[in-house]
Amino acid sequence: MAVYNPKSMYADDFINHEEILETLEYAERNKNNLELIDSLLEKARPKKTAGGVHCAGLTHREASVLLACENPEKIAEMYRLAEEIKLAFYGNRIVMFAPLYLSNYCINGCVYCPYHAKNRHIARKKLTQDEVRAEVIALQDLGHKRLAIEAGEDPKNNPIEYILECLDTIYSVKHKNGAIRRANVNIAATTVDEYRMLKNAGIGTYILFQETYHKNSYLELHPTGPKHDYDYHTEAMDRAMEGGIDDVGLGVLFGLEKYRYEFAGLLMHAEHLEAVHGVGPHTISVPRIKRADDIDPDVFDNGLADPLFEKVIACIRIAVPYTGMIISTRESEKVRARALHLGISQISGASRTSVGGYTEQERPHDTEQFDVSDQRSLDEVVRWLMEMGYIPSFCTACYREGRTGDRFMSLCKSGQILNCCHPNALMTLEEFLVDYASEDTRRVGMELIDRELHKIPNEKVRTLAAQHISDIRSSNRRDFRF
Ligand code: SF4
Ligand code: SF4
Repeated sequence: MAVYNPKSMYADDFINHEEILETLEYAERNKNNLELIDSLLEKARPKKTAGGVHCAGLTHREASVLLACENPEKIAEMYRLAEEIKLAFYGNRIVMFAPLYLSNYCINGCVYCPYHAKNRHIARKKLTQDEVRAEVIALQDLGHKRLAIEAGEDPKNNPIEYILECLDTIYSVKHKNGAIRRANVNIAATTVDEYRMLKNAGIGTYILFQETYHKNSYLELHPTGPKHDYDYHTEAMDRAMEGGIDDVGLGVLFGLEKYRYEFAGLLMHAEHLEAVHGVGPHTISVPRIKRADDIDPDVFDNGLADPLFEKVIACIRIAVPYTGMIISTRESEKVRARALHLGISQISGASRTSVGGYTEQERPHDTEQFDVSDQRSLDEVVRWLMEMGYIPSFCTACYREGRTGDRFMSLCKSGQILNCCHPNALMTLEEFLVDYASEDTRRVGMELIDRELHKIPNEKVRTLAAQHISDIRSSNRRDFRF
C-alpha cells in the first residue's frame, strides 16, 4: 500500500489518497476550533524581516482547516489576510496574458472537454505557421506580450516538432513595436527529453492541469487515450523539472471532484515540488468547469458556487504565498474583480479560446474549448483594472533575466519587489498605453503611472524608470527592464 511521502517520486505516495482522507477528517473535526484557526492565521501572516517580508505559508492539513471553517468572522479575517499577503508580494500589479490555441486535434477522451477524440461535430483545426504568424500579429496589435500556448494531445498532428516550430514562429514575429516576450506552454504530459526541447526553445512556464487529484475519478473522467495514465500525468512536473524547466504551473478543474479533496491534493503537489526540487509551483490556476460544445457543466455534480470559489482562492493564497495565481476569462467580470482582492495576480484579457480566433472579426464558436464569460477587449480590461487601482503589467523581465525557479522566489522574498517589479510594470504599461490604448485608457493610465512612480523606494531606480517612461512616450525605444 502506498504511504504518504512528499519526497517520493511516485504519484500515489506524494498525492496519497489516505493522507487526503485523513486531512479532510482532521479539517472537519477542527473547523470550529477557533483557537487553532487563530494560530494558523497568525502563522500565515506576513512578517517583516531584515531582508524584506516573509510568509510562512501553511501545510495542506492546516490550510484545509481554514477551508472547512464556517465561522463568518474568521472567514472575513481570512479574506483580509489573503489580500494582505497578496499586497506584500504582488502589490497592486496584475500580470496580463492571453491564451493562443494552436490545434484542437486530440486523441484523449476527457469527458469534460469538447476537444475529446469522440466529439465528431466539432471542427478540427491546426494552425499553419502562416496562421500562427497572423494570430501573433493580431495578439501583438492588442498589446499582449505574454502568451500561454495550448494544444491537444495528438502525436501525429501536434508532435513536439510542431510545437517547437510554433514557438520559433511566435518569438520571431516583431510587428510594429510588438513582441511576444514570454510564451508559456500548456501541452500534454511528455518525456524528459521533450521537456528539455521545450526548455531549449525558451518557454516560460510549463503548465499542466491535473484536472482532478482523485485517482479513481481521474481514471473515469479520462477513459481513453494516453492521458488515462494517472501516474504519468501526475508525475509530469517532476520530469519537466528534470528536463530543466524551472517554472511549472499547477491547476485543477474545479467541479470534477469535491473541492476540499482537490484543494488538499493541489497543496500536496506543491509541497512535493518544494520537497524534491527546492522550489514550489510558479503558478496555480483555478479554472471551473464551463459550458462548451458537447459539454454540459450541470452533468458534473461537484460544481463550486461563487462564495466557495472565493474561499478556495483565499485559502490557496494564504497557504502558498509566493505562488502566482491565475484566473481566466472563463469567469465573469464580477467574479474576477472579487478574486483579484483574494489573491489572483495574473489574468487573461480579450481571450479567444478557439483555434485561429484572434484573426476573426467576431469571436468564433466552432472550435472553442470553453465559453468566455468576460468578453471585454484588452483595452477595456486594462482600463477597468486601473480604475480599481491596479497596475496592469506586461512585464516578462524575470524570465528574460534568468530569474526563474528559486531565483525568482529569492526576488519575491528579498523585499526588492518595489524596486524591480513596480518599475517594470509601469514601463510595460507605458508601452501598452502609447502603442495600443484608446485615448481614455491612455489618459487614465498616464495619471496612474505618474502617481505610482513615486512609490519606487530606490531613488536611482525611480529616476531611471522615469527616464525610460519618458523615452517610451517620446520615441520608439522599448523593452526597458530591471
Ligand atoms: S482536456 Fe486536453 S487532453 Fe483532454 S480532450 Fe481536451 S485538449 Fe484533449
Ligand atoms: S520583475 Fe519578475 S516578478 Fe516582477 S513582475 Fe516582472 S516578471 Fe514578474
